[in-house]
Amino acid sequence: MRAAFFEGNQTIAVGPCVPVEPGPGEVQIQVAYCGICGTDLHLFHGAMAHRLHLPHVMGHEMSGTIAAVGPGVDGYQPGDRVTVRPLDPCGACPACRAGHRHICQNLKFIGIDTPGALQGLWTVPAHTLHRLPVSLSLEQGAMVEPIAVACHDVRMGEVEAGDYAVVIGGGPIGVLISLVAQTRGARVLMAEVNPFRLRLARDLGIAAVNPAEADLVALVNERTGGAGADVVFEVSGSAAGVETMTRLPRTRGRIVVVAIFGEAPKVDLFRFFWRELRLTGARVYEPEDFEAAIGLASNGQLPLERLITMVVPLDRLGDGLRQLERGGDVMKILVNCAE
Ligand SMILES: [Zn+2]
Ligand SMILES: [Zn+2]
Repeated sequence: MRAAFFEGNQTIAVGPCVPVEPGPGEVQIQVAYCGICGTDLHLFHGAMAHRLHLPHVMGHEMSGTIAAVGPGVDGYQPGDRVTVRPLDPCGACPACRAGHRHICQNLKFIGIDTPGALQGLWTVPAHTLHRLPVSLSLEQGAMVEPIAVACHDVRMGEVEAGDYAVVIGGGPIGVLISLVAQTRGARVLMAEVNPFRLRLARDLGIAAVNPAEADLVALVNERTGGAGADVVFEVSGSAAGVETMTRLPRTRGRIVVVAIFGEAPKVDLFRFFWRELRLTGARVYEPEDFEAAIGLASNGQLPLERLITMVVPLDRLGDGLRQLERGGDVMKILVNCAE
């Protein structure tokens, strides 16, 4: 079997790899598809280098079929179609004991701290598995992880039917938050500067504006009778997004910070006082978010095919990363790990 190895210095080498036999409590998965995530692009650019053992196999948004089951694994057998929730919490720290295992204080993120899915056969703990229904193709199955991110964000934002939600940033996660919030009955306005992503969002039925061309604050006020948004999601990770996010919510409105900021941004705390705003962080997902994502994906409520811009073979992972880096006409790129 083959794997795509990140060798550092923006270099990917695809070559033979010895499969890891599943140990106790583990399964070995024949990987079908793996999405390329913004996080993978950050790793490619040298971020979080201290967490990687080079050469490193990236990838955590995947689908596949179980190839082998280790001792002591119940409920799964070879041939089962699955996706992986790529979190390995310690189970013993205060966060884990408080029930916050997804943000364990010693969390291992599978695909960063341990080898990821961009390989033919991938061995992971069985507790990470979620079953994929037959109504979901394996291409769609590789989208479950980012959908689960969106489900978690929408849940943390306490989105309810009739809410007016603003999503700042229209990459795959911003679009998925918008779509998931709409399935919950929210009215959504998405802000994005990339023309391709704006057009695609509108094609998918999301009201979307370019904040460089429209006054977002004025627009939100106009559409909410002067009240402001019930909830704002900051997904752009930009200083401009942070500057705008505090000006959009209504009194006692919510802000959910989804983006990962490399440097501490400047935040207008006065707005929190003035409007009694609430700020919530949202990081990865819990098992129920994966189940919600699988439910939404499999009942056809999300236009997943439209979000998959292209599928490339494992050999072309490097090209896929370069394409994401260039931006432009791209949403989600999947890698076919069997090719
Ligand atoms: Zn990801
Ligand atoms: Zn822990």
